[in-house]
Amino acid sequence: MSSNSNRVVIVGAGPVGLCLALRLAQLGVATTVLESLGQDNFLDQVPRAGTNHPATLEMYDQIGLYEKIEGRGFRAPLFHYWDRGGPTMIAEFDHSLLVNDTKFPFVLQCERIKIIEVALEMAQAEPLCDVHLGTTFTGFSQTADGIVATAELADGEIVTFEGAYIVSCEGARSIVRKQLDIEFEGFTYPDRTLNIEVAYDFKQHGYADRNYISDPTEWSNLFRWAGPPERWRVHFPTDPDEDPDFITSPAELHRRMQGFMPSSTPYDILGSNLYTVHQRVAQSFRKGRALLAGDSAHVNSPIGGMGLNSGVHDAFNLAEKLSAVLHGQADESLLDRYDRQRRTIAVKHTQAQTIRNKKLLAEKDPETRRKNQDELRRTAEDPALARQFLLRTSLLTSLRDAAEIA
Ligand SMILES: Cc1cc2nc3c(=O)[nH]c(=O)nc-3n(C[C@H](O)[C@H](O)[C@H](O)COP(=O)(O)OP(=O)(O)OC[C@H]3O[C@@H](n4cnc5c(N)ncnc54)[C@H](O)[C@@H]3O)c2cc1C
Repeated sequence: MSSNSNRVVIVGAGPVGLCLALRLAQLGVATTVLESLGQDNFLDQVPRAGTNHPATLEMYDQIGLYEKIEGRGFRAPLFHYWDRGGPTMIAEFDHSLLVNDTKFPFVLQCERIKIIEVALEMAQAEPLCDVHLGTTFTGFSQTADGIVATAELADGEIVTFEGAYIVSCEGARSIVRKQLDIEFEGFTYPDRTLNIEVAYDFKQHGYADRNYISDPTEWSNLFRWAGPPERWRVHFPTDPDEDPDFITSPAELHRRMQGFMPSSTPYDILGSNLYTVHQRVAQSFRKGRALLAGDSAHVNSPIGGMGLNSGVHDAFNLAEKLSAVLHGQADESLLDRYDRQRRTIAVKHTQAQTIRNKKLLAEKDPETRRKNQDELRRTAEDPALARQFLLRTSLLTSLRDAAEIA
């Protein structure tokens, strides 16, 4: 099955594009993967996602990716909610409560860059995946029989690739989505989020590997990463009116870290970056032979670590359906079920949960803050409630709900 009439062209070798290519190969479908970054600069990407939830680990396991990345990250069964005043720990959740729900009762803290490094090697070694690095996709056309994608090589040469379907895994700026005139509905937060990476052991203060810290003026998230070098990443909100150069100046980064956790010695700051957070979902995930998956279909705040995870879930859902259609086991209308299932989950689970997460951390009203914190405490202390909570945060509930959508 390798002629262009049943090949899938995938735009973007991020985690979603590569997982889609590897799962399709496993199902016997040939793919062409187009990626603008080259072999020489593929790993020069800013730090991003890295919390991999149990439901996603099950998928990595299915394509043989889990065993290759496990040693490059670490298992984190616990996560905490804190109040910055004090600071005081509000609640501790333990994924071990999911021991009967999943083979992976923990999250794997393993940075996106490591996942795509390994997944790219796997795709390049896979005969059914034809990976083209240094190839910038510029547009496509579709007919009743197939698609033709156009791309530009580093030397300016224009090349074309044919396939039965095209899947946009190019991230939030998807050219496919724009070309199809699919609206990206939602909003953008006015305040950008600042990431500061530091070499400092926050465990000495009682923090877990993942912490969500509420504060009426400066909420934050605190995560540990394996590196090397081992590092902690702190996310802070920023004033929309402040100059980005000022926000990321060394003096300002140190001031923020000292405000967060005073230290008698200066922090060893390893890096920082500032990013804009959007909450958006494409109006449709399919138009004819073109489909959207991952960030090209939906984007959300990273609080809760759902972007990469829900994108990988799109890839696995879509791979099953494309394979069934291309092997003649189902008609094309099955692809609309992908749209119904994954778009519903994007709106009802991912968007709703991430918007709630941010509200919870940033809540200003003292009475509401107290109520929220009491509820978190009660949930964490009751094993049945805590298990339901973890099923939701680990995205296992979202997969079960998607399976119910006809
Ligand atoms: C600071 C930050 C922290 C985050 N933390 C988390 C987290 O902890 N957990 C989580 O789940 N999510 C997190 N996210 C979100 C997560 O990074 C994304 O949801 C995820 O990377 C999306 O994967 P993707 O494959 O859809 O797109 P991307 O990872 O954006 O990959 C898209 C790929 O397409 C390529 N591409 C783009 N345009 C073209 C073109 N024209 N031609 C060819 N190739 C192209 C790009 O080079 C890239 O390789 C975070 C995001 C940010 C910004």
